[in-house]
Amino acid sequence: MPKETAGKRRLRKPRIPKAKYVFVTGGVVSSLGKGITSASLGLLLKQRGYRVTILKCDPYLNVDPGTMSPYQHGEVYVTDDGAETDLDLGHYERFIDISMSKLNNVTSGQIYERVLQKERDGDYLGGTVQVIPHVTDEIIERIGDLPRSTQKPEVVIIEVGGTVGDIESLPFLEAFRQFFLKAGPRNVVFLHVTLLPFIAASNEVKTKPTQHSVYRLREIGLQPNIIVARTEKPITKEVREKIGLFTNVPTKDVFAARDAETIYEVPLMLEKEGLAKSVLQKFGMKDKAPDLKQWKERVDRIKKPSGVVNIAVCGKYVSLQDAYKSIGEAFIHSGSLLDTKVNVSWVDSEKVESEGAEKMLSQYDGLLVAPGFGIRGSEGKIEAIRWARENKVPFFGICLGMQMAVVEFARNVAGLKRANSTEFARTSQPVIDLMVDQRNVRQKGGTMRLGAWACHLKPGTRSLEAYGNELIRERHRHRYEFNNKYRDKLVKAGLVVSGTNPDADLVEMIELKDHPWFVGCQFHPELKSRLTTPHPLFVNFVKASMAFRANRDAKK
Ligand code: GLN
Repeated sequence: MPKETAGKRRLRKPRIPKAKYVFVTGGVVSSLGKGITSASLGLLLKQRGYRVTILKCDPYLNVDPGTMSPYQHGEVYVTDDGAETDLDLGHYERFIDISMSKLNNVTSGQIYERVLQKERDGDYLGGTVQVIPHVTDEIIERIGDLPRSTQKPEVVIIEVGGTVGDIESLPFLEAFRQFFLKAGPRNVVFLHVTLLPFIAASNEVKTKPTQHSVYRLREIGLQPNIIVARTEKPITKEVREKIGLFTNVPTKDVFAARDAETIYEVPLMLEKEGLAKSVLQKFGMKDKAPDLKQWKERVDRIKKPSGVVNIAVCGKYVSLQDAYKSIGEAFIHSGSLLDTKVNVSWVDSEKVESEGAEKMLSQYDGLLVAPGFGIRGSEGKIEAIRWARENKVPFFGICLGMQMAVVEFARNVAGLKRANSTEFARTSQPVIDLMVDQRNVRQKGGTMRLGAWACHLKPGTRSLEAYGNELIRERHRHRYEFNNKYRDKLVKAGLVVSGTNPDADLVEMIELKDHPWFVGCQFHPELKSRLTTPHPLFVNFVKASMAFRANRDAKK
């Protein structure tokens, strides 16, 4: 068979399903808020009644971020179907209020894994396997998977990580170029997010870096249709005209994204700028008035809260708040519902070890002990929990935070002095132990207990009071669990098992009776909190902290 026809028999060319596609790229610098821009556009379209979804393309070679350290990557966001994904998916869910799946995040690692598997399976029939067309076809196929899925979006927003000019993202950008050729200009919009630096000395906003990043895009065959320019200062008509002139984008499609007080204000600002209207116009879709009433109310309360409450989040990644991104956001959501500013202080658990809980924590109205991995700082977490339990300060333990609460209770209340998690120590009292089906797991990525699992809540508990529903589903990411061998002993000593998995009888939630609010959960409620529907456990924890504060103020 001649070389050029090799491999074409079994591998069909990717087909592009009927939908509208917005490709979001970033220029000048990273951390420009492409994720927030994509999520905001998603919200603006959804609130006009359109079905929208978002795909994040990550150019790194890890198959997923699950194996990366939080210092490298920030939080690993887990979806209902158990994918470990980029934290931008959290923003997508929080803004467009739909559940993402493993289809909503693709990495170069996944693309290459598939191409190499096909090569090993002989699917290329002797052909040379190349970035173009094999890698790019695989990317195009993955984009098309979304409209083919049950999400059935009318509009797919595709955000690519990194900055134009990076070597890593080139195959994605090339795939987008080919996608445009196949799908046609009525179905594709390219949106480029850039930065306009402000030079104080000349009191000027500079457009040159934007011009250059668009040159880079055009070099590889992509002409943006829309520019969203991040800027500290308002921009004049002249600045918009200048950007338009040099980038070949009509001035009316150059939008300013001013720095916002809260990320939740960004969609409102972009709506005023007319972004969604412009996208719809390019697609020949009808513009409608978006329903942003509730969103606006919540944003107003974030900006002008009536009260305040101070919460300590104790963990080991405190220098890096991205590691606990969804926790921070969940507090913002609850605060907005309760019309209260939730001041979150990130307290280093190792410091609690060296300085003591009283000194580090006594100024707070509530304590959350964060999820995490590894022994470092674990004794500080246990000490912090003891302090909250004894002083009746509202306590919320998430995943590792719940595990540490069980260890603390076992040691200091149930008298199991050597109690620990086997993640940290070999102990004769392993109250937290490796899950049975984790014992033979050697591979790292995607092998924890992941995704949404059912949990049954016990009547008469704080947990059920929060949810108001006996059967819940929450997302997990862990290898260790409450050891049921110690259940009777701990329950006899006063621990309340308030939530269990109905199939495996795993303990998923615990709480204490003689305490205003002391709740731990093995799952990650923060992943399901959204601005318009804050998570009930966070809401009730914040409420309990507000009551604690009011009580303390009354005693003063
Ligand atoms: N390290 C613990 C485990 O694997 C907790 C994980 C977590 O907090 N996400 O079980």
